[in-house]
Amino acid sequence: MRILIADYIYTSSGYLENSAILFNEKILEIADAKTMIEKYSDVIIDFCEPHSVIYPGFINTHVHLEFSSNKTQLKYGNFTNWLKSVIQNRVELMSDCSDWIMRQSCDNMLKSGITTFGAISSNGIDIKTCYEVPQRVVFFNEVIGSNEDFNENIYSDFIHRIDLGNSYKNDTFIPAVALHSPYSVNNELAKKVVNFAKESNLLITSHLLESKSEREWLEDEKGELGNFLKESFGATKPANIINEYISLFDEIKTHFVHAVYATKDELEMLYEKGHSIAHCPRSNRLLGCDRLEIENIKCPISIATDGLSSNWSLNIFDELRAALMLQNRGDLELLSDYLINSITSNAAEILNLNCGILATGKDADFAIVRLPDKPSSAETISYLTILHTTNASMVYIKGERYV
Ligand SMILES: [Zn+2]
Repeated sequence: MRILIADYIYTSSGYLENSAILFNEKILEIADAKTMIEKYSDVIIDFCEPHSVIYPGFINTHVHLEFSSNKTQLKYGNFTNWLKSVIQNRVELMSDCSDWIMRQSCDNMLKSGITTFGAISSNGIDIKTCYEVPQRVVFFNEVIGSNEDFNENIYSDFIHRIDLGNSYKNDTFIPAVALHSPYSVNNELAKKVVNFAKESNLLITSHLLESKSEREWLEDEKGELGNFLKESFGATKPANIINEYISLFDEIKTHFVHAVYATKDELEMLYEKGHSIAHCPRSNRLLGCDRLEIENIKCPISIATDGLSSNWSLNIFDELRAALMLQNRGDLELLSDYLINSITSNAAEILNLNCGILATGKDADFAIVRLPDKPSSAETISYLTILHTTNASMVYIKGERYV
């Protein structure tokens, strides 16, 4: 058992002043610092630096570690041109992506306070790294394939990766399922994989309506993405109809990624079925996609970095700052609280985890942030945290200190 004391602790009732957390692998008690010191005089106490805030460990629900070697190879600015550059450079990017490079990516996430992440894995090269890192990892085995002729092989490769994942499974490595997108997975295969996730009670995620050209192809069978898929993959028609694709997930809560070009009705459908959305503001901006209108969305939202294939860092504070600037509607304090919740309590609920909230019985995952000076009031702490933090000053996972 240990005690952690800071000027502020972020709980579901807001920022508590001069408080302390008693914990082992789980949070055992939260109380004011004085009471805690008197009550547990024989327990080791870790004092955080002045003006520190204890947050639940941060959760990045959507990242592609397999693309961690990209720095300058991929072309940004337009989604279809980016996709072309990914396909052209894919083999080289994957072969350059060593265990060391992926481990660096995970370490950089950890330094910024990310204690849990959702890794999208298209071929399993990242499984060892995800198993070995200290973070909690939801390991999404991804399926992609628009041509039905290859369904049998793709499905058996997917099952093979799931079996491998199950052999690694423990409380910090959680196998799960991903479908790449409605334009890249044929309906028959998508149905089969969704049914598998339902029957196996696994979490599922899918990219959805990321770009304007995706919508144009799926809806009207035209546009630059469609032309590219016709020329390069011999596509004759879209792999799915939008509504039918979304309906495949009716009976399984799904973490959809992007949804920038979903209509009002589609967003309502996602909300009614209990789905959630990962919002990756820097990735959207770099690939020439529009702003996700978060003020019109009722589904739970997480802020996520996406992979280094469409970003320059996996630092969660870089992402929060971008979100704060891109989402320039509404009240700054409320938006900042919303963004902090999107990487803590909301994200934990989306990934069905017992963390993301500082409360008795929750996992002892903490990210401690040091503000440069005393905040003028508790209401300013969320935006001050987002603006002034480069990395967390201390990070704990399951009660163990890693930073
Ligand atoms: Zn992605």
